[in-house]
Amino acid sequence: MTRIVIAGAGIAGLSIAHAIRERDPAVDLVVLEGADRPGGNVRTEVLDGYTCEWGPDGFLDNAPDTLRLAHDVGLDSRVLPSNDSARRRFIFRAGRLHEAPLSPVAFLRSGLLSPLGKARIAWEPFARRRPEIDETIHEFAERRIGREAATIMIDSMVSGIFAGDARALSLRACFPKMWQMESDHGGLFRAMLATRRRRAAAVRTEGMGQPAGRLTSFTAGMRELIDGVAAAVGGALRVSTPVIGLRPGTSALAFRSDLAPSGFTVITPRRTRDADAVVLTGPSSDAAGLVRPFDSTLASVLADIETAPLAVVAMGFEAAGLAADRGPLDGFGFLVPRCEGIRILGALWESSIYADRAPEGKALIRVMIGGARDPGVVDVDDDELVAIVRRELRQTMRLNVAPEFVRVIRHRRGIPQYTRGHVARLQRIDTLLQAHRGLFLAGNSYRGVSINSCVAEAGQIADNVLRVGRGEM
Ligand SMILES: Cc1cc2nc3c(=O)[nH]c(=O)nc-3n(C[C@H](O)[C@H](O)[C@H](O)COP(=O)(O)OP(=O)(O)OC[C@H]3O[C@@H](n4cnc5c(N)ncnc54)[C@H](O)[C@@H]3O)c2cc1C
Repeated sequence: MTRIVIAGAGIAGLSIAHAIRERDPAVDLVVLEGADRPGGNVRTEVLDGYTCEWGPDGFLDNAPDTLRLAHDVGLDSRVLPSNDSARRRFIFRAGRLHEAPLSPVAFLRSGLLSPLGKARIAWEPFARRRPEIDETIHEFAERRIGREAATIMIDSMVSGIFAGDARALSLRACFPKMWQMESDHGGLFRAMLATRRRRAAAVRTEGMGQPAGRLTSFTAGMRELIDGVAAAVGGALRVSTPVIGLRPGTSALAFRSDLAPSGFTVITPRRTRDADAVVLTGPSSDAAGLVRPFDSTLASVLADIETAPLAVVAMGFEAAGLAADRGPLDGFGFLVPRCEGIRILGALWESSIYADRAPEGKALIRVMIGGARDPGVVDVDDDELVAIVRRELRQTMRLNVAPEFVRVIRHRRGIPQYTRGHVARLQRIDTLLQAHRGLFLAGNSYRGVSINSCVAEAGQIADNVLRVGRGEM
């Protein structure tokens, strides 16, 4: 029987384990998690009646993977779409919050960009052709829609998704669909028109839902997804069991002399176990440490993938006091372009995004701070961090009331940064892995940081893992 070890029970490790079990319920599978609970970045705490997410507060429903996983583990009735008002998003610019325009008319009326900045966006179909380099997101945006839109709109989007620096991150690695749109259609407007035509046809024939996707969670928060998948994986999951070493070449399947040697001894603090296939789903820096003893080249490529630390400051307020200052929190929240000289990356108005995230009459806001351009702030003490956040909420939201509840969460390894050269690094990793049959790398360090991306690759990895067991790979 094929012996499979998955290291890490974040959403990536759990969804791969689930996909393997679905395909072959009899397989000998263990999921080893270093922490005392599964979930990794996905963690929900209920404190003083506030539902506080440590990391993600949802996933978009325009990709099928996470919704399908939720369905498979019996969570259909727990799926919680965000409120309609959460479509309204704001950007802080020149001293006030501007609503991010959702239509061409709203865009023309918006004060987010200068008239020249708006005109430059309209010039997009005539932008220079793509140069033969791995462009950064900023280079791409500046070339296509101009410097002002790149600095205001794209910069804040990159802060919101990657806590990253648009001048360092690779467009192709971070937004492969956008890169492909330019390759296929020669420009973004043309690609959008083509997509709109396709969608209109699909809506007519299939009745498809919202094209841009709706942020979606679960009634009791994102931990329901983790609990549901962990329960489906069942006895295979071992928490408080970090993989601390890996030794290659122990598989009974090593009989295939035409293939590279396979199999690994997996070392944990209390025991060792042999496996035909091992999937490492922790951060790439962790994987680098495990493979270094037998492949220092692979280790150094893995170690080159950086991460950006990030802190989340959750604050609860009396909703009435808040309304007096800013008006109701009537949207998703806001982002701050780095050129505004504000340290917070943005704020999520959680109790406006989803029902029941705060007690009756209260409001919950989560503020993100840190990221690639301000990593040190994650290490300042709680009092100072909260003081910075409160000062900047005053500047951005005119929020003067004191919170009645505060929770500071630090993600020291935060979010992986797919910097220039990331796609080439992935190709190099794939080549180097060919010498280690049965070794797989998965999770947010490689091909997408969203929950949807982590879940989307689970099926393919499960198929490949099982092919190793059958001696086909
Ligand atoms: C603050 C924040 C907000 C976010 N918001 C969103 C959002 O709204 N929507 C969205 O789609 N995404 C969001 N993300 C991104 C998303 O949460 C992550 O990319 C995703 O959860 C990563 O899952 P993973 O399984 O790859 O990694 P992780 O969640 O990091 O899990 C890896 C697991 O492996 C374990 N591990 C590591 N090394 C070992 C080892 N040697 N042995 C055993 N176990 C090991 C770790 O303990 C951990 O549990 C956010 C991330 C952060 C930090």
